[in-house]
Amino acid sequence: MPHYPEPLRRLIEAFMVLPGIGRKTAERFAFSLLQGKAEAASDLASAITELREHIMVCQECGQFSERALCSICSDGKRNKSELCVVADGRDIFPLEQTGLYHGRYFVLGGLINPIEGIHATQLRIKELQTKLKTNDVKELILALNANLEGDATGLYLIKLLKPLSLKITRLARGLPTGSRLEYADEATLQSAFANRREV
Ligand SMILES: [Zn+2]
Repeated sequence: MPHYPEPLRRLIEAFMVLPGIGRKTAERFAFSLLQGKAEAASDLASAITELREHIMVCQECGQFSERALCSICSDGKRNKSELCVVADGRDIFPLEQTGLYHGRYFVLGGLINPIEGIHATQLRIKELQTKLKTNDVKELILALNANLEGDATGLYLIKLLKPLSLKITRLARGLPTGSRLEYADEATLQSAFANRREV
């Protein structure tokens, strides 16, 4: 890296920590903040600070939330008999966007991935079992990524939860293989959700 003044170098390095941001892009961002309106730089700084200070994890579902209970878990109109399991809190946003689902969610906190050393015990599976015991869930919808890890996790959950008397469904195949839920387009996700199948 060129011999930039220390604060500039620090900011460039901070941007480079973000996914998909290389040095050139990081430099463009940093110079734009340096040379643009001072307001833009301070808005960005306060947005970043507030993001970490004001966003927590919902104690019921594990989704990002501004309060201890997220807006979905605290909404009395959401159907308590349907629980949709996702790998990551980010996956809830595109599912909500489809407008098809009115139940609740549960965030696993990842997918089983032996290669990366992620095992079932590291996911929120115990919490899920507790929730299923104490709540009146009739349908459990597995909305996991259409890849190896999503399939492995789905099979694990089906085997584990099959003895419970509840309907388990999974999204229809239609999502491109290998795809992450968050990148699926709305129409595809809508049809995968509407055509979910019992397992
Ligand atoms: Zn919640």
